[in-house]
Amino acid sequence: TDVFPDQSEYLQATREIARDVVDVYNAHDPYKKNDVLRRLSIPERIIHFSVTWLNDNDEVEIHQGWRVQHNGTIGPYKGGLRFHPTVNESILKFLAFEQSYKNALTGLPIGGAKGGANFNPKGRSDREIMRFCQAFMGELQRHIGPYTDVPAGDINVGSREIGYMYGEYRRINNRFGGALTGKDLSFGGSYVRTEATGFGLIYMLQAVLKEHHESIQGMRIGISGAGNVALHAALKAAEHGGTVITLSNSRGYLHYDKGISCDDIKWAINNKGKEDNILTALGERIGADWHDSKAPWHEKMDIALPCATQNELDGEAAKTLLQNDLKYILEGANMPCTDDARQEFERSETPFVPGKASNAGGVAISGLEMSQNASFRRGSYEQIDKTLEDIMQSIHQQCVEEGKENGRINYAKGANIAGFRRLADAMVAQGV
Ligand code: NDP
Repeated sequence: TDVFPDQSEYLQATREIARDVVDVYNAHDPYKKNDVLRRLSIPERIIHFSVTWLNDNDEVEIHQGWRVQHNGTIGPYKGGLRFHPTVNESILKFLAFEQSYKNALTGLPIGGAKGGANFNPKGRSDREIMRFCQAFMGELQRHIGPYTDVPAGDINVGSREIGYMYGEYRRINNRFGGALTGKDLSFGGSYVRTEATGFGLIYMLQAVLKEHHESIQGMRIGISGAGNVALHAALKAAEHGGTVITLSNSRGYLHYDKGISCDDIKWAINNKGKEDNILTALGERIGADWHDSKAPWHEKMDIALPCATQNELDGEAAKTLLQNDLKYILEGANMPCTDDARQEFERSETPFVPGKASNAGGVAISGLEMSQNASFRRGSYEQIDKTLEDIMQSIHQQCVEEGKENGRINYAKGANIAGFRRLADAMVAQGV
């Protein structure tokens, strides 16, 4: 708190993990002797650079870019790139920190990182996006590589942006290596990567429901967001018989009490880039209600899946959900619940699964993309989808084993302890 007083998101994330793992840390002398908890909280390296490029009017624009290489003990740094005007060092540090724990939970050999730029791609032409991506990669390329650091996409960085960045990396380095994941299938991408985070979230939900002797059939599911994670979670949930009653974006939310069908969700996925507001267009198509400038959390739902952005669900929203008999909450986004909201769920003993466990499907398939690139072989859609399901079940199992307390499962604590143990053991083995 004294060293980084203005980095609230980063402090929130580190405090929350420290609270959960401190007993495990204190009970294990090698962890204390090697000071692993403090070392694990601080990034190994932060790269900060300017991104200078020419817009369509031939004017010079300058943005700020970062790569936070948080922890590389168990594998090459790995984590997404975010292009958004709100990107700053505190947000990237919190995301990189969480990413290290999440990647450890997958069981794959991948360290944790995050990066991006304070660039708003909304309203930019395709050529501007290309030039920005190339300028960004012009600097980032010297810090990444298949055995060093392998970035992927995140908010506003999808397969188009990854393609432009990969092209620039390849041209500068004269090397066709797996230095980025989330690539198109035509140049080394993996099946199921686009769907992986949303699908993985629903595989985790199914494991949680099974543990509590329930099923997704007929459950009322409220989802926020209408991006990659939200729409694929909605699709998988609907495919398995869940009733998806909401989707949202930064302009408001859509409510459809009968449940949005698989066909309509597929339509939204396929038309996302073509409409000014995909949710109002979907609403007109199916006759659903649109609520301007509001989040969906006062609707009555059994399961809440916040899949938009950090701190989008606060203590008040949590109280409202619980008054409306919420049964389960799984984070699809990274840290969408504020500290107050988490404490409300904790107090009510409502199963709460943190993003580092429930949204780990995306990075898990990115890890598989790395091994597919290294071996120049690609797995089939079915194989990768099955592996995704297995990995989510294994993460669920780790949360259950480490998170049992007073006859219930504390998923947040279980995930933090399981991730911590894997990282801490490797750090102790590698010395200070
Ligand atoms: P997208 O950019 O595809 O979608 C983000 C969605 O959230 C959009 O619908 C956006 O609406 C909405 N949104 C953004 N900010 C707000 C806000 N302040 N209030 C309400 N809605 C908002 O991103 P992704 O789906 O890829 O990522 C969503 C979250 O999941 C992020 O936290 C990301 O870090 C996390 N995540 C993503 C992974 C992935 O594989 N993509 C992997 C693991 C985690 P609008 O379009 O109006 O801005």
